[in-house]
Amino acid sequence: MWLKGYRDEVWSRLDQPWDLVIVGGGITGAGILGEAVRHGKKVLLVEAQDFSSGTSSRSTKLVHGGLRYLRQGQFLVTRKSVRERERLMQEGAGLVNALGFSLGVFPGDQMPKWMYGVGLAMYDALAGKWAHEAQSRDKIIARVPSLEGSAVEGGYRYFDAQTDDSRLTLRVLREAVKQGGTAINYVRADKLLRTADGRVRGVVLRDTAPGASRTAEVQAKVVINATGAWADELRAELGQDKRLRRIRGSHLTFEHRRLPLPEAVSLLHPRDQRAVFAIPWEGVTILGTTDVDHGALDEEPAISDAEREYLLEAAQKAFPGAEITEKDVISTWSGVRPVIDTGKSDPSKESREHAIWKEDGLLTITGGKLTTFAVMARDALGEAEEDLGGLRARTRVLEPHIEGIEWPSSITEEDRVRLLGRFGAEIVEITGDRDGCHRIPGSIALWSELRHAARAEGVVTLSDLLLRRVRLGLLLPKGGLDIIGQIRAVAQPELGWDDAKWDAEVASYTETWKKAYSP
Ligand SMILES: Cc1cc2nc3c(=O)[nH]c(=O)nc-3n(C[C@H](O)[C@H](O)[C@H](O)COP(=O)(O)OP(=O)(O)OC[C@H]3O[C@@H](n4cnc5c(N)ncnc54)[C@H](O)[C@@H]3O)c2cc1C
Repeated sequence: MWLKGYRDEVWSRLDQPWDLVIVGGGITGAGILGEAVRHGKKVLLVEAQDFSSGTSSRSTKLVHGGLRYLRQGQFLVTRKSVRERERLMQEGAGLVNALGFSLGVFPGDQMPKWMYGVGLAMYDALAGKWAHEAQSRDKIIARVPSLEGSAVEGGYRYFDAQTDDSRLTLRVLREAVKQGGTAINYVRADKLLRTADGRVRGVVLRDTAPGASRTAEVQAKVVINATGAWADELRAELGQDKRLRRIRGSHLTFEHRRLPLPEAVSLLHPRDQRAVFAIPWEGVTILGTTDVDHGALDEEPAISDAEREYLLEAAQKAFPGAEITEKDVISTWSGVRPVIDTGKSDPSKESREHAIWKEDGLLTITGGKLTTFAVMARDALGEAEEDLGGLRARTRVLEPHIEGIEWPSSITEEDRVRLLGRFGAEIVEITGDRDGCHRIPGSIALWSELRHAARAEGVVTLSDLLLRRVRLGLLLPKGGLDIIGQIRAVAQPELGWDDAKWDAEVASYTETWKKAYSP
């Protein structure tokens, strides 16, 4: 699936009436595609750049209820989210995994410890399982030795879950395509098509892949605008006022050895009392995030000096013994939240609920969270039911794992769970590549994952491969450029690029990484 030339094959099939066209290939669009296909609809999803290249590859990667939202009284978001977390951990084991959190209480925090206790009790009650406990200073330090030397007074332990956002989006997309859906990357919906009375009846598409310029008109019963932070752009064509506030959140990444964490730590930032997380992920430690108003979306979002300082200040509060400085940062990334603008002076106070607007036949769904993508998909299709026809009862979101896999002995038990989560029924593509079943140096990913991605995961640019399919750009110092020769040996033959194309792609990836992902 999605072998070389797949985009031409999809392009040749665009000229047919679709039940539904989804604009946007992040987790929201992917979830809607999956759900609509399960209901037997004929669906096309178009993504202007790469799948998940918007916010859905740039989150904090938590599948969580959002304790922070509970504190702000956003009970509905929290309730939906903890239920989805439980379901995704079950269906997506290996891709959505439980993660312990040590919540540290420090002198000067404006939230008393007892209040956390009440919040966490509600959190567990909403999930229907009792999992939190109070921790003394000694206990929290014994659990997370990196807190030694800090003023932590104790706190709580609780559970949430984490994922790889980009791989989650990809798995949802690919399973939907396997079941009959159609998805294409690097195709932008440039314009809405409308009937004489102004109702949206399709889109004008443009191929945005490097060197391409073709366009096509596509008709559909329903067009869903799932363009996240870009959602106001299509709505503007209908003369609608802007409703979104774009809020950037950034992260720092450290090598595990510089900030070793057996589980996540959450704390209040000393400056503004926002919750900040330090999280072990895929062999590195992530620190995030920020909440700052973001300007235009025409360039990749990138961390500012002020955000970097803000996050390092949190690291110094929690882990003074580690003496973390900006020199320890190996990569960064920033994403832009699409939140519904209610004019609050503090961006952190805006609601994380999703919103649906029906305007002249265009159905826009935006806001929300990675965690709640399946709920959002149901809600969007529920709104479109009149035009699309009936929806059946809700079923699984992710397909069950297959049994009877012949695992090469080089793949550890831990990697098996991880690979099953990432690849679902496609796992045989990875295990079948016996020579590639060993780890890429400095990463927990296997060479066979890289080879498979280059061959069969719709990669158009080197950034697609290294930032989203296999996440070396986030996980390795210098974005993996130190081992680009080894990457080339595996990927270039699969991609079918000549040497000139490879060199141009390396130059373009290097520029992107320096601008938006470097320390
Ligand atoms: C810093 C940060 C941290 C976060 N952390 C978490 C977390 O830990 N857990 C959680 O649950 N949620 C988290 N979120 C929220 C979550 O990441 C987002 O809600 C989610 O990824 C949004 O997905 P989306 O598909 O709506 O948008 P996107 O992923 O942005 O997808 C929209 C897509 O539409 C495409 N597009 C735009 N215009 C067009 C067009 N004209 N034609 C075709 N395609 C178009 C874009 O290229 C883009 O890929 C976080 C968000 C941020 C910013």
